[in-house]
Amino acid sequence: MKDCLFCKIVAKEIPAEIVYETGRTLAFRDIDPKAPTHVLVIPKEHHADAAALAEADDGLTDEVLKTAHAVAVLDQVAESGYRVVFNTGPAAGQTVFHTHAHVLGGRDLTWPPG
Ligand code: 5GP
Repeated sequence: MKDCLFCKIVAKEIPAEIVYETGRTLAFRDIDPKAPTHVLVIPKEHHADAAALAEADDGLTDEVLKTAHAVAVLDQVAESGYRVVFNTGPAAGQTVFHTHAHVLGGRDLTWPPG
């Protein structure tokens, strides 16, 4: 999608530190990490948020979650524990409207989030 930051990362028009990729998903490090592991997992095709992805779903939501787990294994946080977060909508803090799962780990994460 034109003017979408994460579509530009998929198209390699904007650089990102890619850590894992499948046919339909891409995982790259967050530019402003909030934990030792902070990776964003996106579907390569554009969906504005997690609700739109689920609505359109043809197995892609599953693939995003499987990629999130693969990232946690690669970053060696799967055993200690990690968090997968989809901020969905402005009140939840979503700022980029191409759905993405935050994979956070590598430190003790507090609950509830702010
Ligand atoms: P949201 O606030 O929408 O849930 O998360 C968007 C995330 O994208 C933020 O954590 C932010 O740091 C990250 N981000 C914004 N711009 C870029 C960028 O150009 N490259 C990367 N790798 N991450 C970005």
